[in-house]
Parts: sequence; structure tokens; C-alpha cells
Amino acid sequence: MNRILVIEDEHSIQKMIHYDLTQLGYQVVLASDGLSGLQLARNEPFDLIVLDLMLTKLSGLEICKALRRENHPAYMIMLTAMDEEMQKIEGLDAGADDYITKPFSPRELAARIKAALRRSERKEKPVTLQHQDITLDTLSYEAYLKGDKLNLTLKEFELLQYLIENKGIVLSRDQLLKTLWGYGYDGDTRVVDVHIFKLRDKIDPDANLIKTVRGVGYKLI
Ligand code: CA
Repeated sequence: MNRILVIEDEHSIQKMIHYDLTQLGYQVVLASDGLSGLQLARNEPFDLIVLDLMLTKLSGLEICKALRRENHPAYMIMLTAMDEEMQKIEGLDAGADDYITKPFSPRELAARIKAALRRSERKEKPVTLQHQDITLDTLSYEAYLKGDKLNLTLKEFELLQYLIENKGIVLSRDQLLKTLWGYGYDGDTRVVDVHIFKLRDKIDPDANLIKTVRGVGYKLI
């Protein structure tokens, strides 16, 4: 699930954005001033940040600059109150990826967000992933073992994809839970173990590929 941070001090706009984006299935976190927005952006993972230009404590420009200096990867959409060319340019200079001029329609914001998330997903992930005898097609969500199509659930597919993308790296149960089941998922990490067991059962019955790292998590070798 994509997580979106909305930094906006106008309550009515905040409420509208929150309602619309939640309806679309995004996980939305709100901040009402610049400083708390910046802290949230630093402390929690977000795929996209919608931020107002004029905020109390820290402006949208300052937040943008600070996060880009720290190489924050989130896509940033700046909300500008005035239709002024200068501010848009400043916003883009500061590291925003896009801007929307108020007043805007919720539909427009949603369309921009969808497009942005689609683009960033495509940029990050190759369509075909290969590891030893396993091939994944990340567009069709099909997985093959030695050319034979595997019958994986969506979660098993995502888990396998994540393992392949991070092969050789020990992934903790918490990290897997957070990444694949969503931040704030309050189930326990046994859900990860169960999926690993199911995945092993289908592709790796002898556990030669997906290794258990005792006390930590799992590693694909
Ligand atoms: Ca404002």
C-alpha cells in the first residue's frame, strides 16, 4: 500500500485530501505545520509527499530543500496558493517533482498522484526479474520455475520479488512485515514465517534458496 504524507495547514483542504486519497486506497498521514511534517518525512517511510508552500514553522520550500539534501526518495507535489510562475519555479528548484495550483479539484490531485506512483514504480523495478531458475514477470505477476508457471498468491509473489531484489541481504521479519504488509500492520511477524514456509513449499522444498538467519529473518542466496 502506498503511503502518502500530506503537509497542509488549512483544515478544510487537509480533510478533503485525506478523504479522497483514503477512498482511493492510499494510506494517508497528515501534518498541520512544516516542522512536524518534516519530522514525519524523516522518521517514517513515504512514497509521496503532498506539501503546501505556505506553512507555519517551516515553509514547503524549506522542507523540500531539506529532504532533497538528505536524498529523500519520495515524490513531492507542491501545493501553491497563488498562480504565480515564480513560486512554481522555486518549488521545482527546491526539489519538488510537480506542483498544483490552488484551488484544485480532488480528481486532478488524484490523477497526478496515480501517475507519479506508476512512474516511480516503473523506474525502480525491471519488468523481468531472474534468479537462478526463477523468473518473475512483475507486470503480469507471473512466476516461473525452470519455465514452468508457478501458482503463487499475490503476497507470495511480492515476497519472492522482494527477496530477489535484495538477494544476499539478510532481511529481518520486521522489515519484511513493514514493506510487504504495510507500515503499521499490527499483526505479528509470524505472518512472514507462514508465507516463507508456503513459498519454500512451492519453489524451494529443501530450503537451499531461502535461508533462515536465526534470530533475524531470511536471506535469499
Ligand atoms: Ca497554507
